[in-house]
Amino acid sequence: MSGAYEVVIGLEVHAQLLTRTKMFCGCSTVFGAAPNTQTCPVCQGMPGTLPVINRRAVEFGITTALAINCTVNADNRFARKHYYYPDMPKNYQISQYEEPLAVHGHLDIEVDGAARRIGIERLHLEEDVGKLIHEGSLETAQSSQVDFNRAGVPLMEIVSKPDIRTSEEAGAYLRGLRAIVVYLGVCDGNMEEGSMRCDANISLRLHGGELGTKVEVKNMNSFRNVQHALEYEIKRQTRALETGERIVQETRLWDPDKAQTVSMRSKEFAHDYRYFPEPDLPPLNIEPALIERLRESLPELPAARRQRFREVYVLNAHDAEVATQSRGLADYFEEAAKDSSNPKAIANWVLNEVLRVVPGDDEKAIRSCPVKPANLAGLVTLIEDGTISGKIAKDVFEKMYRSGEDARTIVLREGLTQVADAGALGAVVDGVLAEHAKVVEDYKAGKKAALGFLVGQVMKATAGKASPGVVNSLLAEKLSKL
Ligand SMILES: [Zn+2]
Repeated sequence: MSGAYEVVIGLEVHAQLLTRTKMFCGCSTVFGAAPNTQTCPVCQGMPGTLPVINRRAVEFGITTALAINCTVNADNRFARKHYYYPDMPKNYQISQYEEPLAVHGHLDIEVDGAARRIGIERLHLEEDVGKLIHEGSLETAQSSQVDFNRAGVPLMEIVSKPDIRTSEEAGAYLRGLRAIVVYLGVCDGNMEEGSMRCDANISLRLHGGELGTKVEVKNMNSFRNVQHALEYEIKRQTRALETGERIVQETRLWDPDKAQTVSMRSKEFAHDYRYFPEPDLPPLNIEPALIERLRESLPELPAARRQRFREVYVLNAHDAEVATQSRGLADYFEEAAKDSSNPKAIANWVLNEVLRVVPGDDEKAIRSCPVKPANLAGLVTLIEDGTISGKIAKDVFEKMYRSGEDARTIVLREGLTQVADAGALGAVVDGVLAEHAKVVEDYKAGKKAALGFLVGQVMKATAGKASPGVVNSLLAEKLSKL
């Protein structure tokens, strides 16, 4: 690790808001349309056009701000951020600068059982830029094309305080933030597709010393990349400081293939952007009644739900976190658990089997999972009451997933009911003992592991339908008499 140095990390997260239309015009925000089919003179930056603020985007921003404990600024204002880039036709981006939508929040995270509170500096609204599509790689492209469908899509930027100390904390903060925006339904949280993006500022300092030179890292499009990039930077900066090398204030890009950060450009400063209040938009004056209405409509947030899962269903911290990673998955678990006498077993099935076939953060996939929550509860009941073994249950789950049928229908049709009758199993056990006389000798000579082999043979002979408990006691009884 970094030894004598303390790591100081701040994260800037951009989240695309799930509004139907863009931030300042009526164009559709639907992803995946043919290039430049969702544009108009406003989002193409034609002279003489005027922007209009998307009310829903403002409400989404306020809702998120309240969920991360921010103070909403009733008076806030948009500003122009000037820079040139071919994906931005106006040559300025409408953002917020000195008077953002919300300030001074926090998000509580937990890493290895230790709780930490990460401060949130601000939350502001802005518009996204277009997308450049290079012919080939950026370095060798002979030409590039631009798609303005994304230009003007509402973005929310959430800036943390430099309170994060490790890459694990950065990961926990991001996961926490992502869970919140997904729960609120304001962003789909998809980092791979770019609807949630993260930039990091990282510097090292001697413990208790002055802040070091800050490096910005971009281009990390997954939680894993964020952690890897930060770990790489911590090592790189530690080595530089130890060898007396000067750390340059710059922007670096994470290259996931080479697993390293590479220098992109020297860092620009806020004053380079020549911010000034957007003259085409009035200041926003948000009525306190609207803020209160949005506060009252907040759903149960992931942290509260996690806590309730631990108390009500006695899940451990890890299981509670995984089960609440999305609203859909948490709802699925609760729906199944309410019909079951063993919520812990339900949790195991959800976390191991359901998550094997459905991504836990994909709300749509969870809702359309062929194994309905009530049917999962039914499957667990069949194990609980001894009708089927755990091993058979896994096969039944596969069949439920493929057919959408309930467990009992499959078990009855295919005759999978567990054989727990000692009389019926006795003959099978006798056969196995006779067939494996050598193993029986080993067992009698003290090789206790041989018992497991014999149990396995009985299970095999009954196609997994024997009750393992009954098989174990039958074997123990018969072996003691041999
Ligand atoms: Zn437009």
